[in-house]
Amino acid sequence: MTGFPDLRADFPILETGVHFLDSGASSQKPIQVLEAMDRFARTSYANVHRGAYKLSVAATDAYEAARQRVADFLGADHDEVVFTRGATTSLNSIAFGWGLEHLRPGDRILTTVMEHHANLVPWQMVAKRTGATLDHIPITEDGRLDLDAFLEKLDERVRVVAVTGMSNALGTIPDVPWIAGRAHEAGARVVVDAAQLVPHREVDVRELGADFLAFSSHKMLGPTGIGVLWGRMDALEEMEPFEGGGEMIADVTLHNATWAPIPHRFEAGTPPIIEAVGLHAAIDYLDSIGMDQIFAHDQHLTAVALERLSDVPGVQIHGPRDTENRGGVISITMDGTHAHDLATILDEHGVAVRAGHHCAKPLMRELGVAATARLSFYVYNTEEDIDATVTGLRKAGELFGVG
Ligand code: PLP
Repeated sequence: MTGFPDLRADFPILETGVHFLDSGASSQKPIQVLEAMDRFARTSYANVHRGAYKLSVAATDAYEAARQRVADFLGADHDEVVFTRGATTSLNSIAFGWGLEHLRPGDRILTTVMEHHANLVPWQMVAKRTGATLDHIPITEDGRLDLDAFLEKLDERVRVVAVTGMSNALGTIPDVPWIAGRAHEAGARVVVDAAQLVPHREVDVRELGADFLAFSSHKMLGPTGIGVLWGRMDALEEMEPFEGGGEMIADVTLHNATWAPIPHRFEAGTPPIIEAVGLHAAIDYLDSIGMDQIFAHDQHLTAVALERLSDVPGVQIHGPRDTENRGGVISITMDGTHAHDLATILDEHGVAVRAGHHCAKPLMRELGVAATARLSFYVYNTEEDIDATVTGLRKAGELFGVG
């Protein structure tokens, strides 16, 4: 046992008895987050940055306090934090706001074969529009990035290296500081999709060495509808706004507009205000446990699960087989069984796992599978959730005549 606190009472949804192993898709919410949003909506809600009246000032203060909370959590400056609708919008803002401006025919974008579509498709779109070419860092047999291949592919024509901070399908945590160092030596900007990393491991953006970072609140105990785009100030200054509208301008004439200061120029329209308050409360909750403790808990559950799963007849584990540089996401298949059937049988045992391509279709092709069933852990999971999964998998194996 790890001494990690039992937090389940904070998560009302767990009273249903579900063994929830799909936090990689979206996490559950503790009462502290639900209550903070409820309290704010009841007592302090108004639109932000608009009114001179007290409620609007209170709402603006709460919204900007959330920005400061995110900045402190990341070791960043207040103005480097842009609120978006989620990691997908953050990555599109970078690709279209920075990429369209700076990429030219002959330039190269280097990403990886294990990216979530959100850090791949926007770059494909921008490559087509700019004439830049797209290349991908392959993975090794155990699901890690092939860093020798990365160095071979890296040259001075590479203008962007876009890499996941943690794979949502394999759990792999690439060595981003090292990758960023090499990329910067070659003169490239570094974009990190941290949608799975920030919820699970302490991230200091200066130590990570990225230029841009993207993540979503809903995977870190916060509400849906809000995410973060962090950029180093010099990188944000190179970026054009991806959306135009209210709030993001300094002045507008009938034919022209000038931009508000950063970060507001990247936040067109009414922002997710109640959601920012929820994200603030989520970060307070995570910090009260401690990100180091959270990562250790994920790793403990991962180690236990890797061991117990490897005893189940017919189960194949995709991705790293040990816990080194790896988070709490495990993709499995069972011989002769479709991942969706596995997930359905697990559901009958009260276990919620995701089955499918996990928005990483190119990776599934690399692995030679159509889909996997994915277990993903978070602060409320315990070894009992793993036991229930193993019981369900053994039952599935019997049903399908495996082993
Ligand atoms: N990147 C990774 C690694 C993810 O796991 C996800 C969500 O599954 C995303 C990006 C997209 O996040 P969102 O759907 O919140 O925009």
